[in-house]
Amino acid sequence: MIQPMKPLQATITIERGRIIGIEYTPGTVTIISEQGIHSYPGAFVIPGLVDAHCHLHAMGELLNGLQLYQLSSKNETLDACNRHTELRGDWLYGMGWNQELWEEKVYPTAQDLDALFPNTPVYLRRADGHAAWVNTKAMEYAGITDDTQDPEGGSILRMQGKATGILIDNAMDLIAHLVPDQTNDAKIKNILTAAKHCSTLGLTEVHDMDVHPTLLPLYLELAENGQLPIRIQSYVKAQQHQWIDHGCLPAGGEFVRIAGLKFFADGALGSRGAAMIEPYADADHKGLILMNEEILYEHAKRGIEEGFSIATHAIGDMANHIVINAYERLRREGIADEDVILRIEHTQIITEEDIERIGKHNIKAIPQSVHCISDATMAKVRLGERKSIAYPWKTLVKHGIKPAGSSDFPIESANPLIGIDAYCRRIPFDDTHAWMPEEILSAEEALLSYTTWAHEAAGMEYRRGKIAIKFDADLTILSQDICSCEAKDILNTSVLATYSAGIRRYHHVG
Ligand SMILES: [Zn+2]
Repeated sequence: MIQPMKPLQATITIERGRIIGIEYTPGTVTIISEQGIHSYPGAFVIPGLVDAHCHLHAMGELLNGLQLYQLSSKNETLDACNRHTELRGDWLYGMGWNQELWEEKVYPTAQDLDALFPNTPVYLRRADGHAAWVNTKAMEYAGITDDTQDPEGGSILRMQGKATGILIDNAMDLIAHLVPDQTNDAKIKNILTAAKHCSTLGLTEVHDMDVHPTLLPLYLELAENGQLPIRIQSYVKAQQHQWIDHGCLPAGGEFVRIAGLKFFADGALGSRGAAMIEPYADADHKGLILMNEEILYEHAKRGIEEGFSIATHAIGDMANHIVINAYERLRREGIADEDVILRIEHTQIITEEDIERIGKHNIKAIPQSVHCISDATMAKVRLGERKSIAYPWKTLVKHGIKPAGSSDFPIESANPLIGIDAYCRRIPFDDTHAWMPEEILSAEEALLSYTTWAHEAAGMEYRRGKIAIKFDADLTILSQDICSCEAKDILNTSVLATYSAGIRRYHHVG
């Protein structure tokens, strides 16, 4: 049975971060707290929205950094570089250029940058991350000359034997490793920028994935100083034992909790890295397994013994199968008792038999509904006619599984309403009709996914995800009732205010 989830019109009284009173007041929402009384006529209040899989620091890097995405000419791109004043050490670092979007669709050159930056080394990543555009100074620093050999798996583009300033794939590493890491101040700024951005979108909590252990002290310091507007559950990078090398242990806090470890079983669908049971429809191979069942079992076991939850990335049906096998063994052998949270991040392409096993072993599924509507065209080409289900939201729910809502930002927008819309309509960005409409969720299920069910994926549902007495006063105030409006109008909703721990962190002005 699914518990009801309805946006409310009510007066909510808050004390010391918890809800102590709820009185239904049709027509308006009023919040009474130590901060005073805030009224929102005509609005609706829901439990604070959660993004159960995202990359917070990367979002901050994107928001604060030099972004060259979607620019339509080389000159615009160069202008943006020229306006950007923040350097990394003495380097200018940027990302997102794409010559395919320019009037003249040819690769730019080092000389284009040299005219503006004769003395500053410049490194600009292409939008797809598979090429870099650098200037002469950067090549000088790296010792790249016209005679430098191409590295294995990469190439230095040349014209009449001369290096042009474009490095492809592994050749990027010749220079990338010279660009200094960001300072702690810059990293803190990135975290705060991203967290603030989340709270303007109605998010009160995020599950931050693949967090580098060196970032954890910064997060904890921000939490201790009361500077975070949202709560963060951290899942620490673990694929290469990073958590062990840095001596990470679980830690519980109100605003930052070091909750779990993050592993990868396979790659992504776009690059055909997702591990499949059958070969791709458009290529003669089955993708890449990044961690097999035995190794995942061993690594997860070690993490569970230290008290961590386990979160494993699995896109393809083979990867999902492998992860479920490892998790099943952990449950069966009593290493992961029912209290230990085992999560599959993405749960993207999966057989119905494996969905049943997810339910049976109480494994959490964390899909990204936005990936479905942004990748549908590509996914159809990669998958062809196969029996496994792609983006199987309703099938999960039918098997008693409660998918946790998430976006994988900054790969997608952090706006949870876009994710809720994707759940409820499933219309790809380049289409006007739903793809596999039988997998659509109701607005109520979508809202549960972004609230109660997301909290369940981190074990916080006992005090968050409901508007109830003694629950944390994490609340999102919306301009309309997204469960009773037409699905096509969900995206016309405004976030009017966001509260976490009873404090108003954002309110809409105007
Ligand atoms: Zn991710």
